[in-house]
Amino acid sequence: MELENKNHVKIGTLCSVSFLVISYLIFRTGLPKIPTILLYNLIIIFSLQSLGLGRGVLCLAAAVFLTTLLAISMNFYYALNVVVFFIVFLIVNSRMQNKDYYTRIIQARIEEVKENTNVLSDEHERHKKETLLLEKKEERYRLLKDVTSTLNSTLSIDKVAEYILDNALRIIGKTDSALVYLVDTERQELSLVLSRVGRDFDRIKAKKGDLLDETVFKERRCLLVEDIKKDFRFSEQKMELYQRPFRSVISSPLMEEYKVNGIVRLEHSSPGNYTSEDLRLLDILCDLGAVSLENARLYKQTLDLAITDGLTGLYLRRYFIERLGEEIKRSLRNDLECSFLMIDIDNFKNYNDRYGHTAGDIVLRALSMVLKQYVDSGAACRYGGEEFALLLPETSKKSAMKIAEEIRKAMKKENIELRRVKTSVTISVGVSSFPDDTRVQNELIMKADERLYLAKRQGRDKVVG
Ligand code: GH3
Ligand code: MG
Ligand code: MG
Repeated sequence: MELENKNHVKIGTLCSVSFLVISYLIFRTGLPKIPTILLYNLIIIFSLQSLGLGRGVLCLAAAVFLTTLLAISMNFYYALNVVVFFIVFLIVNSRMQNKDYYTRIIQARIEEVKENTNVLSDEHERHKKETLLLEKKEERYRLLKDVTSTLNSTLSIDKVAEYILDNALRIIGKTDSALVYLVDTERQELSLVLSRVGRDFDRIKAKKGDLLDETVFKERRCLLVEDIKKDFRFSEQKMELYQRPFRSVISSPLMEEYKVNGIVRLEHSSPGNYTSEDLRLLDILCDLGAVSLENARLYKQTLDLAITDGLTGLYLRRYFIERLGEEIKRSLRNDLECSFLMIDIDNFKNYNDRYGHTAGDIVLRALSMVLKQYVDSGAACRYGGEEFALLLPETSKKSAMKIAEEIRKAMKKENIELRRVKTSVTISVGVSSFPDDTRVQNELIMKADERLYLAKRQGRDKVVG
């Protein structure tokens, strides 16, 4: 840049000096006019081209002015004046060049600064976005920490399922419908236990899950489907087989060791809604939830073992008496009826003696199965040995007698096959009702018991109310 400016000054000076010299020669020596005019023009063009229009014209104007002065009078003072003027012109020109040079440097610096500012503001934007993402991530993991402490203190299976689902929605969000399936251990199949459905989707009808849930269940690992229509693994199944019009899904199994105990699934109606980060969070949440779920299961199992009979699966007497007490209180409060059945197998000792204890156990289980069919909102209990009791809430004496009769007949019809020998037993039943017979719990039991023995005395295989 500096070099270029120096060249300009040199060229400008050269042009002007040449101009002056030629002008002088013309006027003093009378050189041939035409070549001199050509030379004149050449210098003008060269001067304009190298100095630029403004400065070139200025330089030429000065030269023309000076030449005219020279031509008018060849006075020495005029000549000196011309030289001084010319020097002043050179200085001014050089200053202008310098000023121009600095302006260009400043402009270049401004451009550079602008460019840097742009780069910095881009970077700032990027950092801002990254910070937001990190803050969101931090918030999500903080929420996960809270989840852990609450899950650890939850011992109900339903509450655990609810807590996992609600937190999946809270932490991951952006979901149209969310589902929790638990594995039905008897049938070894998935069964929907909880769902949250957004406004775009109908209520969830399918209770057993679809191809996606089966895949998670069988492969025992989490699943991210960005677009169900484009995913070759699932798009082959006709879209109408999927209950809801979802496009993207994340799903994760609730695993205990190598066993899948359930599945949590989130869906959205638009494709590409979930990221692998979302899936990772759901996976962590399910890992935490699975431990609590197993704890809740074990807790329930322990509770069940404490209150149920191992052979028949019916309640034990202590828990049953509690339930009976609650039911009587409820009946008193709401002015309702309720009935109580005491059931005993006839001549069961003989049966045991004849067919053996194992066969006797089969009979006990058969009777418990019959009783379970009549439990409804009540409770059935193995009262002791081969004695059973049935609580029938909101049931009058008349209805209870009818039910007792049905049970008696059902048990009589029950064929217990032992090594191709068909056997059967009969039962006797005593019925008492609240408030018809009594308003006191113990008396209700006693009355049913008395009536049971009455039935025995009357020849067994009878219902006495
Ligand atoms: P009744 O018609 O008067 O009731 O005669 P019973 O023989 O049924 O009455 P008893 O009370 O004399 O006999 C009850 C029998 O029930 C005795 C016992 O062997 C049998 N029993 C009690 N608990 C069990 C059990 O868990 N399994 C089996 N197989 N038998 C049991
Ligand atoms: Mg008996
Ligand atoms: Mg008995």
